[in-house]
Amino acid sequence: MKLLDKLFMSTSFNDDQMDSLVSDLQILIRQPSISATSEGLEQCAILLANLMKNAGIHSELLYLDAVDQLENVNSHNKIPPIVFGEVKSKINPHSETLLFYNHYDVQPVDPIEKWNEDPFSGKVEGNLIYGRGSADDKGELITRLKAVEFFLKNTGDVPCNIKFLIEGEEEIGSPNLSRYLKKYKHRLNSDLVIWESGYVDKDERAIISLGQKGILNTEITVYGPSRDTHSSLAVAIENPAWKLVNLLSYLYDPVGGKILVDGWYDEVKPLSDKELQLLADEPFNEEAFKKEYGVTNFINNQNAYEIKKALAIEPSCNISGLTSGYTRKGVKTILPSSATAKLDFRLVPNMDPRIQFERLLKYLRTTRCFSENEVSVKYLSGEPAYRTPIDNQYVKLVVDSASKIFNGVVLNLSSAGTGPMYAFKEILNVDSICIGSTTLPNKMHSPNEYTNLDLLHKGTNCFIEIIKNFANITTRNTGQSRYYNL
Ligand SMILES: [Zn+2]
Repeated sequence: MKLLDKLFMSTSFNDDQMDSLVSDLQILIRQPSISATSEGLEQCAILLANLMKNAGIHSELLYLDAVDQLENVNSHNKIPPIVFGEVKSKINPHSETLLFYNHYDVQPVDPIEKWNEDPFSGKVEGNLIYGRGSADDKGELITRLKAVEFFLKNTGDVPCNIKFLIEGEEEIGSPNLSRYLKKYKHRLNSDLVIWESGYVDKDERAIISLGQKGILNTEITVYGPSRDTHSSLAVAIENPAWKLVNLLSYLYDPVGGKILVDGWYDEVKPLSDKELQLLADEPFNEEAFKKEYGVTNFINNQNAYEIKKALAIEPSCNISGLTSGYTRKGVKTILPSSATAKLDFRLVPNMDPRIQFERLLKYLRTTRCFSENEVSVKYLSGEPAYRTPIDNQYVKLVVDSASKIFNGVVLNLSSAGTGPMYAFKEILNVDSICIGSTTLPNKMHSPNEYTNLDLLHKGTNCFIEIIKNFANITTRNTGQSRYYNL
């Protein structure tokens, strides 16, 4: 059989290959790689690079320069390497390039006593495999590696050029990813990024998400007396906790659901008709959502459509922490010396976290007259939002590929969460699409994380499909003759 036909005929991942997927995933799960504490990161990167080599994928560890290491303000530990992988298509050398973005780091295992097994056991029970990282993100990663290995083992080639960027700091907010993208821009050059994860809903439909919100993390501290004082002095000394409560009430109108900072929404663009239609078509299970979070009403009694819209495209202002005074058992009558709030603002495309921070600062200093001496406002971190346009040529390709494997597809404008998608657009000028095999009950970041083997199987088949379709479309784009028809 000719190689072209073989590439075309190779359509499904079989049970033997599934066994090797499980054993390789176990190898990865059994190597702890916790970015919060730096435990086992480089070891995991080396292990992963070797697994990739065994699969026939050229792999190497890439590092930043010593100067970046010195500027690594977020951690005293060494910046972990990225694992870079590449397979060049022999038969289709001028094809465009598909880049898989994943991460090999995991969340800490605490509270350890809540785990039924060793968090790094990789234990298989029926259709489930347990362990930290089994879903987020080692399970997702293995499906992409196995899809590429599938072509290499069956045909000795891949239908299109493929790259991997697997980082070790995703779970701590990817603080060095932009540096890596800039330093290795030419090696990471690609035409489409397949994002590190994606959801499958309870009806086994693939949720294909095209965007991620941005974020601005801030900390506001109000200062009062030079030390915690006797609370009888509350008639004489202003309490910074009251002042903080007052300040917070100026930021957000909980009834109207709007952020009150001047100019906050200036760059927010309305949705196009196509985008509105997509939003309207997206299913949203109101009752299941309410049950999951134990609530009976949505904020401001909004309806399901409004909530669906807010999750995808509305900026938010959230108090994530509020501390002042005595908060332990019993009574302690003090007037605290300071009060602090941590706030995260989710952002939508075109909002720049630094500009939003300057607006917040100006609003508090000028409009609300809080002086520098009494209130400090800190920028902790920020990341812009990005949404891949729905008419990007690869969206249909991914939708069609997933439709063949899953019980349908739901296209989502943007997830409500945040990730470094903007950095890929800004530095590599490439769009991203999120698709994967994770389900909401997989307990990511929680004790007893697991993943479903049948979905990993489907996920692998889905990536096999995506690779073939990508090869086909990009062969057309580069003016080469098509080497197979799907
Ligand atoms: Zn995670």
